[in-house]
Amino acid sequence: MQQYKLLINGEWTDSSTNETFENINPATLENLATLQVASGDDVNRAVKSAWDAFPAWSETPPPKRAMVLFKAARILEERKEDLSALMTREMGKVLAETRGDVQEAIDITLYAAGEGRRMFGETTTSELKDKFCMTILRPIGVIGMITPWNFPMAIPAWKIMPALVAGNTIVMKPASDTPLLTIKLVEVLMEAGLPPGVINLVFGPGGTVGSAIVHHPDIRAISFTGSLETGKWIMGECARSMKRVSLELGGKNPIIIMDDADIDLAVEGVVWGAFGTTGQRCTAASRVIVHENVKDEFTQKLLARTRSLKLGDGLHPDTDVGPVINPSQLEKITKYAGIGKEEGANLLTGGSPAKPGLPGYFFEPTIFTEVDQNMRIAQEEIFGPVVALIPVSGLEEAIEVTNNTMYGLSSSIYTRNISHAFKAIEKIEAGITYINASTIGAEVHLPFGGVKGTGNGFREAGTDAIREFTEVKAVYVDYSGSLQKAQID
Ligand code: NAD
Repeated sequence: MQQYKLLINGEWTDSSTNETFENINPATLENLATLQVASGDDVNRAVKSAWDAFPAWSETPPPKRAMVLFKAARILEERKEDLSALMTREMGKVLAETRGDVQEAIDITLYAAGEGRRMFGETTTSELKDKFCMTILRPIGVIGMITPWNFPMAIPAWKIMPALVAGNTIVMKPASDTPLLTIKLVEVLMEAGLPPGVINLVFGPGGTVGSAIVHHPDIRAISFTGSLETGKWIMGECARSMKRVSLELGGKNPIIIMDDADIDLAVEGVVWGAFGTTGQRCTAASRVIVHENVKDEFTQKLLARTRSLKLGDGLHPDTDVGPVINPSQLEKITKYAGIGKEEGANLLTGGSPAKPGLPGYFFEPTIFTEVDQNMRIAQEEIFGPVVALIPVSGLEEAIEVTNNTMYGLSSSIYTRNISHAFKAIEKIEAGITYINASTIGAEVHLPFGGVKGTGNGFREAGTDAIREFTEVKAVYVDYSGSLQKAQID
């Protein structure tokens, strides 16, 4: 059994706690590896190592930094199959999806590498003669990164790659359920020539190791993806020390189905959005807001498709839906199925843990119908294969229901009516709106993130990727040779 130490200053070093935790396959309960738990002192060492590496890395020209990323992308491509299989074993989602996760990591690596020759600032005019004005992007310093388990390689890559090309150094704590793919990603970067100390990895519980990162006085910014609850806490703590923090949090993502929609297409979109990744995506479709004129046809077709889904080990080619990540997630989803019934929603199918001949944590794909928009199952993020169908009588009501949530990440509408589509684009409060496509499927060259409780205004990937990890400096060059005073006549 492989045991992983902490990565500090380019060396795998023993933690000072003598504690370890296991990395478990959620389908088979096989133990994949053990990892050492970091202490506060270990986090201090990691932060020091990141600062020691900062001067040389931040002074390396961005196109040269980018070359490390280009090389890393090539290595990732060569290893895509092995990495995907390992990710399925570690996280549970089916191979087609873990291949997508690795591909997304490759895509963001290439995209961020391209920024090495862009990272544009602005040039502009001056109110004074013989004066030149521009903005430039500067690295922030040492960034603390804390990630969830549902995209074991893509989410770490979304943070690491732009941060690196922008010249920062990093202390990262991946989720304890899926540290292996972060380790593999960082190993690839080191193989591609990343200098020691530029990325440091620490492992262990959020409450201790994550908290030590959040509170560390020498970490300049936190980039966090995870739950609303943890995000709120981190934001409060960062406010005390005026630490910059970017948050990518949960969702309660709707699909609106209008009565002019292609119903078969909508059914496929809902199945993919609600049950892909076993519903464990921040962009998972958990509310289907369906026009009453097509409700019956849609519901019957969705039920038939849902019942045809095969649960099992994600490595098996016939599996459609893998396990959920861990026992507490299984318990939480089971609890919400009970809440739905107590609230008076109609349980159409599913609702219980499943046993597809494996010892792991499986839950039946679940559909509730006749859901009221204010029920807890329509408001709270369940993060499992559970979808709530909410009937509505028209577009206006559909948009009202859509926006009746504290979250605002992804959203979708199925309609053949161009006015409906554009009204939805305009009125839906969300960071992402899809037309005639499911709530999932973000591409790395577009900004990713949400409004309201989903975040604090930052976006990852796309043109905003670099912005998350840089400070803007305004530069004034006065070549007049005399004292010029702006705003003073
Ligand atoms: P989580 O908030 O429980 O944990 C996320 C990370 O934070 C983990 O590494 C955890 O160890 C750490 N953590 C926990 N408590 C901490 C603390 N007090 N201080 C510092 N770190 C702490 O979330 P999760 O269950 O791992 O992930 C699921 C959540 O992530 C869902 O809400 C999902 O919607 C969200 N998510 C959001 C996005 C997005 O981009 N918006 C993407 C994926 C997942």
